[in-house]
Amino acid sequence: MLAIIAEKPSLARNIVAGIGDMTKKNGYYENADYVVTWAFGHLFSLYDIEDYMQNPPEKTKWTLDNLPCFPEKFEFKLKKDQNGKTDDGVKKQFGVISALLNRPDVTGIVNAGDSDREGEIIVRLCINHALKSKKPVYRLWLPDQTPQTVAKGIKEMKSDSVYDNLAKEGFSRTYIDWLYGVNLTRYATIKSGTLLRVGRVIVPIVKAIYDRDNEIKNFKPETYYALVSKAITAGEEIELVSKYKFSENEKAKAEKCCVRMNALQAVVTDKKAKKEVVSAGKLYSLTKLQNHLGKKYKMPMERSLAIAQKLYENGYISYPRTNSEYLATNEKNKFKKIIGDIKNLGYGIIFKDKKSIFDDSKIESHSALTPTYKIPQKSALSNDEYTVYSAIFKRFCAVFCEEECVAAKTEINVSLGGKEDYKLKGSVIVTAGWTKYDGAPKTDKILPDLKVGDIINVNFRPEERQTAPPKHYTIETLNNYLKNPFRDEKTPQDGDEEEYKAIFKGLELGTEATRTGIIDNAKKSGYISLKKDVYYIENNGTFLIEQLLDMNISMDKYKTSELGQALKKVYHGDMTVEESVNMAKEEIKRVFDSDQSGGTGFYGDRIGLCPKCGKAVLRGRYSYACEDYKKNCDFSFNIRMLGCSVPQSQATALLGDGKTDKLKFVSKAGKPFEARLKLDENGKVVFDFN
Ligand SMILES: [Zn+2]
Repeated sequence: MLAIIAEKPSLARNIVAGIGDMTKKNGYYENADYVVTWAFGHLFSLYDIEDYMQNPPEKTKWTLDNLPCFPEKFEFKLKKDQNGKTDDGVKKQFGVISALLNRPDVTGIVNAGDSDREGEIIVRLCINHALKSKKPVYRLWLPDQTPQTVAKGIKEMKSDSVYDNLAKEGFSRTYIDWLYGVNLTRYATIKSGTLLRVGRVIVPIVKAIYDRDNEIKNFKPETYYALVSKAITAGEEIELVSKYKFSENEKAKAEKCCVRMNALQAVVTDKKAKKEVVSAGKLYSLTKLQNHLGKKYKMPMERSLAIAQKLYENGYISYPRTNSEYLATNEKNKFKKIIGDIKNLGYGIIFKDKKSIFDDSKIESHSALTPTYKIPQKSALSNDEYTVYSAIFKRFCAVFCEEECVAAKTEINVSLGGKEDYKLKGSVIVTAGWTKYDGAPKTDKILPDLKVGDIINVNFRPEERQTAPPKHYTIETLNNYLKNPFRDEKTPQDGDEEEYKAIFKGLELGTEATRTGIIDNAKKSGYISLKKDVYYIENNGTFLIEQLLDMNISMDKYKTSELGQALKKVYHGDMTVEESVNMAKEEIKRVFDSDQSGGTGFYGDRIGLCPKCGKAVLRGRYSYACEDYKKNCDFSFNIRMLGCSVPQSQATALLGDGKTDKLKFVSKAGKPFEARLKLDENGKVVFDFN
């Protein structure tokens, strides 16, 4: 008898469907060969700092005394509910798991956590805490949750020890993020008087958006003159743009240059026309799917992931938190069958055995997102579910489309008196191919029918243009940055080799599995906001980043990426859990040491002069207050008011200029509003709605 522990009830149900013929009991299913039970995701969490102490102080009072905390051995406890009380549901289910694992007729145990790092340790923790005598443990590793795949997976189970390194990476990740999160969150919060959520990945994400928005805010557009010719030749307007540019005060020079250029003759010196096969996009990884849905439907990432997760739990799509756009070669037979099924529904697709589709070297643990054997009726899905499913389905059909997409491409070279060359490009789709299923690629306009030797009319004029500021991050551009934070955005990528190398080395910030949740957290904490598909920094985010900079907590992309790479090394067996954890400890120690040496303390900072008595206004833990406060002066105002942390720079502006920039507040009734803070004639801080 094998006891299978699924990560979630939904997975347990799908496993039961794959086994067939099981009886539902209280908290598990059973037949002659198997019992199947489940966790609710994480049943265990790491100890809090106070749990490691013999005489813990009251938990609600954070103090610098017990920081930094580096436990000798990390301990786990059953997860508590939101109020820190025993969670009866968790306790009861763990009781069921314990009883089943220790039943004498249960001879082996199956780890059926989700097929990833987190799932591996969720179930391992249950087994480690429950099992009283040694029993063999196997791993059920599922690319999707259809009954066919479950049945096949059970037949091919390997020992769970095959996944030891994955588990080690999982524990490293858990310990490192605890060390950072707990120590630095408490430290920053105590120092600033405001709850600041500090985490290994959340900070560089907020920092990226903060930096970009500052760049935009400080951008000064420059005017320049471009030399552009728009003239009709053979009935079509042809635009030529010179590579020469002139600055704002060189208009006369630009005009003279145009006169000289217009005196020259423009001749077609070369023409290439060819038909070219246009390939479909690649299958979707989670990020690429989220990028597409964000761009096209303005769907936030947590929404697209939640829907993909539901489609996966219903068996309609493969494992969603994948970072690959390729398929595993050992799944070829499965895809042959799925393609056959889809073809029977009337789609013109065919199995293709190509390296651009099946490539094990670009897969870490899961294939790209695909449909499964189980193809839903449209009516079985909600609108959003249909949107997500059909994006995956259509891309799959495009990749395996029987008919090729062919475009006619023309390239014409125009020489202006032998002094400057211009390339004109045009293309048009001749055979639709995969574009029937998955949106046509951008095509250039059609070019007029020109031959070598033809003369082109020119009429160059200076055209006033402005340099453009950088763009705010969108779902897509932020994801691209996080996937490879060290790539220069301006240089085009050379194939996808570089991207996969970056992922496999762990250069990325966060992972496919964690990024969505962390970005959502940053939104919920009011650090950033998402409007349509564009991210903006919020006052709380500015406050967070500026505080951390003040406290010398760098947590930049380099540090985060360094730890990400350490996790990969643990996964590959090139580093121990302890070594990776020590790296995090070193960095945290550095922060605390630099504080001891007197560097960056900051309550007590002078932010300006008191409008009432002219003495210094100092930063306190919770307020900015006159140094004579409570003695001879009563000037003070809160750092945090109505959901807004007033940044120090704004407080200085208030004292200097008498008012702040517009800040975002939330009324007591929960309604957001914008206002400035200003000093009234009595030196009192009041809202200014103008
Ligand atoms: Zn005063």
